[in-house]
Amino acid sequence: LVVLKDVNKHFGDLHVLKDIQMEIGKGEVVVVIGPSGSGKSTLCRAINRLETIESGTITIDGNKLPEEGKELAQLRADVGMVFQSFNLFAHKTILDNITLGPIKVRKQKKDAAEKRGMELLERVGVAQQAQKFPAQLSGGQQQRVAIARSLAMEPKVMLFDEPTSALDPEMINEVLDVMVGLAKEGMTMIVVTHEMGFARKAANRVVFMDGGQIVEENTPEEFFTNPKSDRAKDFLAKIL
Ligand code: ATP
Ligand code: MG
Repeated sequence: LVVLKDVNKHFGDLHVLKDIQMEIGKGEVVVVIGPSGSGKSTLCRAINRLETIESGTITIDGNKLPEEGKELAQLRADVGMVFQSFNLFAHKTILDNITLGPIKVRKQKKDAAEKRGMELLERVGVAQQAQKFPAQLSGGQQQRVAIARSLAMEPKVMLFDEPTSALDPEMINEVLDVMVGLAKEGMTMIVVTHEMGFARKAANRVVFMDGGQIVEENTPEEFFTNPKSDRAKDFLAKIL
């Protein structure tokens, strides 16, 4: 569903993505881990075309990522993205946050968008908060709203960039539970996270990045118990 071939990207002299090759099948859940600065966020942003690449190709469901314009908006709508910061619209209600995209980009009618929006809020456990504003919700609730907002666009793939790292510990699991549920339902997901529990429960594959390269990839069991490269061993020794 998502294919990256020979993807390269620099920031000035810094080679942040080096010949990245990646293939993510429909329904596959890939966890990306690696040290700070290894290029994980840049990789996500490149897939969503928030960042340009210098060479190589990225295709989503057979469509090459276009440079700009209307097609780009459409394609970006196929790729849901959830960030560390929840990025909700502060001056809109929770329900309006959910329905804005479907109405504007997917051209849904307001009624239909609101009905679907309420279903999604129900699913992530924040339907009670539909008429509130983001600041009135806890971090965990806001992040679940952000996930529901992405789902409302009916994306083909969901990208998560450290979705729980800004949350208080007691809120991490409520967000991870929603993500595990999504994975079980067959959503294609690319998840940057250091939450080993999530990787073990939900990931088909762990991709370890360091210095802009994919150093190794394996099943979570293999990767966590038997990393091959010294770089992965060092990294795991630090975080486990
Ligand atoms: P972290 O775990 O800290 O989130 P990361 O793996 O997500 O790290 P990236 O954010 O992708 O790493 O950054 C990779 C490298 O590119 C870093 O050295 C970072 O400083 C640099 N970088 C990222 N964005 C920019 C930018 N807009 N301009 C210049 N350098 C950048
Ligand atoms: Mg990052």
